[in-house]
Amino acid sequence: MVRTVAVDLGATRTRAAVYESGVRQGEKVMERTPAAESEPAVLLSFLSRTIREVSRNSCGKIGAIGLSVAGPVDIRHGVLINPPNMAFRYVPICGPLSREFGVPVRMVNDCHAGLIGELEAGAAREKDNVVYITISTGIGGGVYANGRILLGRAGNAVEIGHLHVDDTYDLACSCGHRGHWEGYSSGRFLPRFFAQWCTYHGKLHGGPDGAREIFASARRGDDDVLRFIHDLVRINARAVSDVIVAYDPAVIVFDGAVMLENSDLLLGPMAGEVDRFLEPPRMELSRLAGDAPLIGAAVIAEGYDTPYGDFGVLG
Ligand SMILES: [Zn+2]
Repeated sequence: MVRTVAVDLGATRTRAAVYESGVRQGEKVMERTPAAESEPAVLLSFLSRTIREVSRNSCGKIGAIGLSVAGPVDIRHGVLINPPNMAFRYVPICGPLSREFGVPVRMVNDCHAGLIGELEAGAAREKDNVVYITISTGIGGGVYANGRILLGRAGNAVEIGHLHVDDTYDLACSCGHRGHWEGYSSGRFLPRFFAQWCTYHGKLHGGPDGAREIFASARRGDDDVLRFIHDLVRINARAVSDVIVAYDPAVIVFDGAVMLENSDLLLGPMAGEVDRFLEPPRMELSRLAGDAPLIGAAVIAEGYDTPYGDFGVLG
């Protein structure tokens, strides 16, 4: 039996767990991702510590390590490149960890990992045409089309957080460009969108500040916040409509803390706002409680040749 360590390196949090034949062994380890420093050595020693900690609880030798990484990534070279929501710039990860632990180390971007997790154990099981969308600190996606994952040149296809969705508020995205979805609806930028929305509509912005408080105010029935949420939902629907016409999925699986914790305000209302050019797909919430990328990392740990597409042939 091959025991593997799966790591989900997120912009805010990092989780790790040991898997054996697709089944988690023991508890997950959860750590705060180092946010302030940009030195590659900081990230590598953090990952190394996390892997040692989680494998300490496991009896038996670890045979491989799989990483789900908030990208962009270059999975041909095992490198993290200019992640917009972390301070790191260029961090070779797979090579150094492989030398340190003496086992194969493989990586994919976190949205492809999440998609694999849903295909393996979640709402996308046994489906051939699936889009995975995560709305968390950032926004990203993965596409499984006619039985294959869409990878792109270096493993970054379907970076849908950077779809253009708006010209009215003209907000800058984490990538530096304007009008991108992530600059409006992600956990990181939603409070700024609310502040800008208040200014644009001549509302006094004495209201809620953080994303959580904004959603709580909406649930308490604050009229202005509800109007803002309606505009937020329309922006989400703009992006999801573009995704539907581009990929013609049978099902879209939504994941990520912002969506999972606020689906009452975000998901149901959005279904009524998406374009109806193509028949709308089923839209579902992930039922894997945030573990989809971790499960996907465990699949990738065993090899780039997966049942969902061969990640080893990028080029
Ligand atoms: Zn962008």
